Amino acid sequence: MIKDLIILGSTGSIGKSTIKVLKKNKKNFKIHLLSTNSNINTIYKQAIEFNVKHVLINNIVKYQIFEKKFKKKKINVYFNIDDALNKIKKKVFCTINAISGIDGLEPTLKIVKYSKNISLANKESIICGWHLIKKELDKYKTDLVPIDSEHFSIWSIIKNENKENIKKIYLTASGGPFLKKKLSKIHNIKPKFALNHPNWSMGKKISIDSATMMNKIFEVLEAIKIFNLGYENFEILIHPKSYVHAIVHFKTGLTKFIAHDTTMQIPILNSLYKSNEKFFFNNKNFNFKILNGENFIKPDIKNFPLLKILKNKYLNTYFETILITINDELVKRYLNNKISYITIHKTLLDLIKMPYFTKYFRSSPNNINDIKIMVKKTLNYLNKYLKYNVNKLEYKI
Ligand code: NDP
Ligand code: MG
Repeated sequence: MIKDLIILGSTGSIGKSTIKVLKKNKKNFKIHLLSTNSNINTIYKQAIEFNVKHVLINNIVKYQIFEKKFKKKKINVYFNIDDALNKIKKKVFCTINAISGIDGLEPTLKIVKYSKNISLANKESIICGWHLIKKELDKYKTDLVPIDSEHFSIWSIIKNENKENIKKIYLTASGGPFLKKKLSKIHNIKPKFALNHPNWSMGKKISIDSATMMNKIFEVLEAIKIFNLGYENFEILIHPKSYVHAIVHFKTGLTKFIAHDTTMQIPILNSLYKSNEKFFFNNKNFNFKILNGENFIKPDIKNFPLLKILKNKYLNTYFETILITINDELVKRYLNNKISYITIHKTLLDLIKMPYFTKYFRSSPNNINDIKIMVKKTLNYLNKYLKYNVNKLEYKI
């Protein structure tokens, strides 16, 4: 059976990995809709290569300029996601949502009705809006599989297990490019070094989050929500080789883990098949040699002080939206050379203690509008804060 797909964010790192893996399995899949923010060249090539009839462009200016280019090739092009989704007459087999940032939440919520399955990379939508997503999934009987590699591994290990038997889940982190560096020595390090991840090739935003370890904080929150477990069930371990993605230790005495090469194509492809289907990834042999020598170490909080954030246990409140928004904006400014590396750390740790924000850690957003309003409030406050404090923030932690 040919599986019909929607790929949101097809022009980014996960989107391109999805396209690559589909290329190798072209006869099994048909792409119904692709989307981008503004990368017209890439989406145009993808649409032509896969004979895609519907394309969504989020950037209004690019949409207006390039609409005709697509129409000439009989490709329907949309600016508004609702218009694109209105064309779907019956649920597609799967939507892969690879949009980055909190902007991925609204498309996630909208797509549930139109997909039998969702392979979700966009971790921000899980962290900020899981309770909203879950409601839609239940309403439309849609299945969701996380494709963040750690979460895909956990999902694979525990899908047929009794959750009560789980003692601990270890999320592995490579430690990023600065694992062996003292934070005090790199407080002014330039983005190009922070982007130089030793094992993974990823989008810029998540690469910086990997360097600061914010990505792992997000992943703990993501896992708590998806698997409906508590903070006490999770621990972060540094595994510089990035071969083992998650380890689940059961009360039964067994410990199971999943290892695979550091390519997102593996969780993406595997998420598109049910467990009894036959398919293959054309992978290398199991590399047992990688697992020789030192593999798992506890992270050093002095070098990764953002890990302290996990002490704030305000799950399912505005905490998550505030945290994601502050971090998104700081990383954006760092990538544009507007603030230093240490300022990301110092600002996050300072701001999440401020009464202006902590007063919101007692209430929860009821809908996407509540989340959008909180994003705006957070950005306003952050802008003012940085304007008055940026010089002070250069001090070492
Ligand atoms: P990229 O920045 O490489 O790609 C993001 C994609 O989303 C691009 O197609 C981009 O379009 C599109 N996009 C950006 N903003 C908008 C918007 N406002 N509306 C619609 N589309 C938009 O990100 P990644 O692929 O690295 O990451 C995607 C998601 O997956 C993130 O949530 C990330 O945390 C998660 N993830 C990524 C991993 C990785 O290996 N990269 C691993 C695990 C999770 P354009 O090309 O025009 O910018
Ligand atoms: Mg991950």
